Amino acid sequence: MAGAGWKVWRKLRIIKSVTFQSSRFYSSDWNIRHGLVGMVGRTPLVRLNKVSDETGCEILAKAEFANGGGSVKDRAAYFLIREAQKSGELKPGGTVVEGTAGNTGIGLAHLCLAMGYKCVIYMPNTQSHEKIELLQTLGADVRPVPAVAWSDPNNYNHQAKRFAESLDNAVWTNQFDNTANRLAHIETTGPEIWQQTDGKVSAVTFGTGTGGTLAGVGTYLKEKNKDIQVVLADPQGSVLYNWFKHGKLERSEGNSITEGIGQGRVTSNLEGAPIDDAMCITDKEAVEYTFRLLHEEGFFVGASSGLNVAAAVRVAKSMGPGHTIVTALCDTGQRYYAKLFSRKFLDDKGVLQYIPEPYRISLHD
Ligand code: PMP
Repeated sequence: MAGAGWKVWRKLRIIKSVTFQSSRFYSSDWNIRHGLVGMVGRTPLVRLNKVSDETGCEILAKAEFANGGGSVKDRAAYFLIREAQKSGELKPGGTVVEGTAGNTGIGLAHLCLAMGYKCVIYMPNTQSHEKIELLQTLGADVRPVPAVAWSDPNNYNHQAKRFAESLDNAVWTNQFDNTANRLAHIETTGPEIWQQTDGKVSAVTFGTGTGGTLAGVGTYLKEKNKDIQVVLADPQGSVLYNWFKHGKLERSEGNSITEGIGQGRVTSNLEGAPIDDAMCITDKEAVEYTFRLLHEEGFFVGASSGLNVAAAVRVAKSMGPGHTIVTALCDTGQRYYAKLFSRKFLDDKGVLQYIPEPYRISLHD
């Protein structure tokens, strides 16, 4: 008996490693992850049971909070560092400098520790203090600067670039316009979704910050099957909905409480992305679904995940039952505890009313 069991187990192992050797990025199987770098990608694809049952579609989410640094941005962070190593710009012991609203910096800081680099992060001072404190804990030199537009030379990205240029053996990873970011999703997230769904994916939808996730996944999946619908989910107050629908870089109404998504321009990572449709998702929907995910599905995630799922539900409803829609749970709610889970914060922003009464038990004052 023990002999037969062993044979079956070996056979399964062989099937597994053949499957994953076929990918360009992965070199080992699922069982042993090689250090923190090995914990970038290969995230579970989770069926969101409640919203799937309600819509008659399979609504699936990549559990991106399961990456080693805790968010979808670990993928981009790794590819940005890898490219700087390959080009020779970053040598052992060098410094990685980035302008980031948080998650890319957290991913970079984790990876810098694992890979032996120093890390300097410029960020707008409007970001949640949990993210700043986490970055400091991760040994990064964090420099909060006033939140000014891209057109202002003191924008956090321009400051990051200038600082990197002033150092020897340093790189400004430039997540917005360095297409190594998009490549991360062409080489990892896209193939994972294709494999995990056995190619049975009808549509994908993602909110965009740099655009890397949407453009990379979209590019890979369209190559596999051009009928897969790629839908951009834009928070209120961002320009990308109007850019796609009307060709104008005009902000939609309102300001969003979501963090890490929304844009004022078309980044190089988003440029040329194969997008079929765009939708503007209000904070009402993003907040409602963030709390539904928590109380109905058990996932404690940030508001960009709520926005993604709200968009996936809209896509499911417009496509009709029987379709498979894939999106992402981008990071954990712990990163936003002081804001998104504060009754006062939500009340001040006028969105408290959108959280179903029984779910307000999660809020603190
Ligand atoms: N969700 C969160 C929480 C993020 O931090 C980001 C990136 N800033 C995104 C979604 C969007 O990812 P991308 O940059 O690939 O568009």
